[in-house]
Amino acid sequence: MIPLRKNIQQMAGYVPGFQPPDEAAWIKLNTNENPYPPSPKVVAAILAELGGDGGNLRKYPDAASRAGRVAAGKLYGFDPSWVIMANGSDELLNNLIRAFAGEEEEIAFVHPSYTYYATLAEIQGARVRTFGLTEKWELADFPARYEGKLFFLVNPNAPLGFTYPLEFIENLAQRCAGMLVVDEAYADFADENALALVKKYENVVVTRTFSKSYCLAGMRLGLAVARPEVIAALDKIRDHYNLDRLAQAAATAALEDQAYFAECVRKIRETRAWFTGELRVLGYGVIPSRANFVFATPPDRNGKRVYDGLYQRKILVRHFSDPLLAEGLRISIGTREEMERTIEALREIG
Ligand SMILES: *Cc1c(COP(=O)(O)O)cnc(C)c1O
Repeated sequence: MIPLRKNIQQMAGYVPGFQPPDEAAWIKLNTNENPYPPSPKVVAAILAELGGDGGNLRKYPDAASRAGRVAAGKLYGFDPSWVIMANGSDELLNNLIRAFAGEEEEIAFVHPSYTYYATLAEIQGARVRTFGLTEKWELADFPARYEGKLFFLVNPNAPLGFTYPLEFIENLAQRCAGMLVVDEAYADFADENALALVKKYENVVVTRTFSKSYCLAGMRLGLAVARPEVIAALDKIRDHYNLDRLAQAAATAALEDQAYFAECVRKIRETRAWFTGELRVLGYGVIPSRANFVFATPPDRNGKRVYDGLYQRKILVRHFSDPLLAEGLRISIGTREEMERTIEALREIG
């Protein structure tokens, strides 16, 4: 046997959402990708960086991804020393665990939310604790003082789509002895975010991704906003060239084209409202969503049956076997036309 570390040998590894090989044949509503292409200015910036003969690719990229930090800092009202760019926000989640949680130390997150935290903790050898949700979407049994090294809060929650009130997040920041990471992968589709708390509390980190609201899942881009001391620690840990040249060009152009971004978000929110209404007409229970997906439960509470019916019609959504989630489906918001076809299919499936 090869001499693997015990935790690596024992761990299962994370299984990401299914990407069918014949992508174009599907309506793909299973990984919360954006249905719209990125801004034309992003495409132009990538082509410009590539140049006629690709000659720029001979050279290493800017190790610090400075242009992206400056653009994000300007957009969110922070000095660039409070910002780090990443190869997808998943890279940040990984490096946060590496920075703050040693072997046998504890990290925690809400169940249900993003299970990738558990995989990252397993790699590190850190222990995992989860907190359940009450019917009012409050955390069950969260202690007055939580002593773990990191607490990850996905807001808006994935896969359910609701948001926690900002006062509640602030209260959590006060109760966490370690770091509170607010994973804002979907915050651009909501009305509020926790960026102001980063200025107010030294233990708050906000992570963002370009994969959803900026239509760039294929580029692998994320960022975090936190105190300069935290950013400096994350800078020590990351790959020194974590963003390639094309990704850096794309990130800056995407952040600078706020008009295109706002229009994409507006369309998704509008389609989300329409789709939610249509699902309710069909008798589905739908949690009001502030993200680019909805969590919907069919009248017979058999999420798998409806998943299979949609799959046969080449519509891919997400079904989770976890007992807390198995009655429903997570459905990403695509274009209006894709959602109309999904409603038709659901009507047929009954
Ligand atoms: C999509 C998602 C991410 C990952 O974003 P990438 O930038 O694509 O790595 C992180 N957290 C949550 C909750 C997500 O849904």
